[in-house]
Amino acid sequence: MIDELKKEIEEVRQSFLNEIAQIQSPDKLAALKERYLSRKKGAVSQFLLRLREFPPREKPAAGQLINQLKATIETELAGREASIGTASGPEAPWSDPSLPASDLPVGRFHLIADIQRQIEDLFLNLGYEIAVGPEVELEDYNFTKLNIPEFHPARDEQDTFFLDGFDDMVLRTHTSPMQVRYMLAHRPPLKIISPGKAFRKDDPDATHSPCFHQVEGLLVDRGINFSHLKGTLELFLRSFFGSGLNLRFRPGYFPFTEPSAEVDISCFMCSPAGTSGAGAASGPNPDCRVCKGSGWLEILGSGMVHPQVLLNCGIDPETYSGFAFGVGIERLAMIKFGVPDLRLLYENDLRLLGQFG
Ligand SMILES: [Zn+2]
Repeated sequence: MIDELKKEIEEVRQSFLNEIAQIQSPDKLAALKERYLSRKKGAVSQFLLRLREFPPREKPAAGQLINQLKATIETELAGREASIGTASGPEAPWSDPSLPASDLPVGRFHLIADIQRQIEDLFLNLGYEIAVGPEVELEDYNFTKLNIPEFHPARDEQDTFFLDGFDDMVLRTHTSPMQVRYMLAHRPPLKIISPGKAFRKDDPDATHSPCFHQVEGLLVDRGINFSHLKGTLELFLRSFFGSGLNLRFRPGYFPFTEPSAEVDISCFMCSPAGTSGAGAASGPNPDCRVCKGSGWLEILGSGMVHPQVLLNCGIDPETYSGFAFGVGIERLAMIKFGVPDLRLLYENDLRLLGQFG
């Protein structure tokens, strides 16, 4: 019985090889494939159906013969398809080694990291050091030594993450406690910036996040006055946003600086270079989507280090004075690149992030 099968299989194999050798078109090749490999009526299936007639001891050998036939047919068909193509599919694959390679995506820094590095580079060039502090901070450094009194609303449980079981520790609400750490450990002259994460108990919305990024700046030396602060911030903001920018210092209040100033920049979208934002000859554009028609953008908080803060850190305010400022990195990103919603910066959607860098 097995000899008979062997003979028949050999005949089918020969006729298949003869037929396939003649075929030149994908359509005819598809028909041939159907005739030999179709699951219902194909030649190979017919042989497999007969397998059940064989006595058990011959079944393995018979099955092997059929599988060899199937493998031969499949291999030949695949080779022929590669040379003349298939009826339904695209042209057989081919390659042209002279074509330029397709672009590989290039990694880059996240927008927040990128802006942080730009700021770091700028201040390193001005002789500042980068000082990085812990995100879990002593309440004393986060509040008390920075002259933030017990009754200050920043200490409210609605605003600050306190840590269960650690009464004296909080997730730092700003990068300013690094001022304290650095002043306790170093003597003036001091020039540092301190970038990093800060945490507040805010519900996420377009302009708030429970975790955000800040850069703190601190300079303490003999004879430091407000014009040093002003010059430094002018240099920083003009190099970041553009040289034509104007700055506006408004009186502000921070417990750890005195006097304190909120700093605005003239709108880089609608206030032409060299004019002051609001009140310029041409005036701001009332429809400007960046400044909402005001001509000014709030950008950071700053001031002269409060003498009490210097005292708290063991520095004599009669001899030394200093300035400090703090800026939100997300705020810089949103203003400079028109990112409308803070949360977009944390979603890591490459369609957004790929636009910058
Ligand atoms: Zn504007």
